[in-house]
Amino acid sequence: MNINFKDQKALVRVDFNVPLDKQYNITDDTRIREALPTIQHILAQGGSAILMSHLGRPLEKLNADGTINKEKFTLNHLVKHLKKKLKTKVHFADDCIGKSAVKKAAALKPGEVLLLENTRFYVEEEKGDEAFAKKLAALGTVYVNDAFGTAHRAHASTTVVAHFFDKDHKCFGMLMDREIANATRAMKNPAKPVTCVTGGSKVSDKIMLLEKFLDYADNILIGGAMAYTFFLAKKGAVGNSLVEPEKIKTALEFLKKAKAAGVKVVLPKDSVCGDKFAADAQVQITNSNQIPNNWMGLDIGPAAARQFAGIIRKSQTIIWNGPMGVFEMPAFAEGTKIVAKACAAATKKGAFTMVGGGDSVAAVNQLKLAKKVSFVSTGGGAMLEFLEGKELPGIKAIAE
Ligand code: AMP
Repeated sequence: MNINFKDQKALVRVDFNVPLDKQYNITDDTRIREALPTIQHILAQGGSAILMSHLGRPLEKLNADGTINKEKFTLNHLVKHLKKKLKTKVHFADDCIGKSAVKKAAALKPGEVLLLENTRFYVEEEKGDEAFAKKLAALGTVYVNDAFGTAHRAHASTTVVAHFFDKDHKCFGMLMDREIANATRAMKNPAKPVTCVTGGSKVSDKIMLLEKFLDYADNILIGGAMAYTFFLAKKGAVGNSLVEPEKIKTALEFLKKAKAAGVKVVLPKDSVCGDKFAADAQVQITNSNQIPNNWMGLDIGPAAARQFAGIIRKSQTIIWNGPMGVFEMPAFAEGTKIVAKACAAATKKGAFTMVGGGDSVAAVNQLKLAKKVSFVSTGGGAMLEFLEGKELPGIKAIAE
């Protein structure tokens, strides 16, 4: 962060969209913990922090009478926890703009924090409304964006607000810096060989990612349901597996492009199949292009998992997005587990391993392997778009 925060009132966009239980206790404070270094840095330099965030989707879940369910979606639920974590005064403004927010921001002393009410109480937030963003901007003297998870949205508090600060008065927060640095390290001049692993449900969701991987990957390993659209394209029998027949052409074109680019694409030789999409399904292992009628491929098979793991272990850079199977069900979690362990083993041998942009993050967390890979992104959709090579509006707004 290249700003001296002394005596500045830093307007910080954080991602405090944390899960809450029925009594509004925070059930997972990862997102708050991730934002603490940035806030602490600002306070330690003698600045104050005005925090803004969204929480849930209040405008999609209105009360029966059409009003906002403030009790459920207020950021006030987070104040006590923030006080405990930051060990300083945390004030709360029950509106993110307007008189009381202006007054509380003006009265804020160095070392103190003001948390603003949910920015998504205003329809203007997601619309990226200029006038609303200007009111937010007026609360601070500098702007810091540390909400990587929403950087792909051109919302008022994530993007438009930055237009009201010049280059010397806005910057990324530490979390955002870390996300950008790690993804850039993986994509630009990565140590070779580079292996990109992708899975999940749909070719249509991941085709842009696959095409981008062609720019720098040596190997692309494809697992998850999306593999079966490739097998279908190659005239294999895929039984009842989840496929997108309308993407056959896309799949064949991708394979052609990969061949021309000299990138090795590896599909799973075998599959763990179930007779239904359920945790208690009957299970059998078959070749992935010979799945019997009424059976569906729900995980990569043991031979495929061994092959994928072998390639990963020999790689210097690994980017992994998307689970290898229906990892939420133990009977179909083994492929994802083996890939995760291979990533951990490669990391131990010195490879750079980055997991991000989807459910693979949940898988790595579930397996308690998050600390054994080089970097786990908090980004979800934002990381997926970053890896696809798109320019994220939240990043662009700081850089320009
Ligand atoms: P995505 O959000 O596209 O990364 O997809 C993740 C979801 O894909 C997870 O919920 C997995 O359960 C699901 N998935 C992975 N493999 C399969 C498969 N072979 N059949 C059906 N769903 C799958």
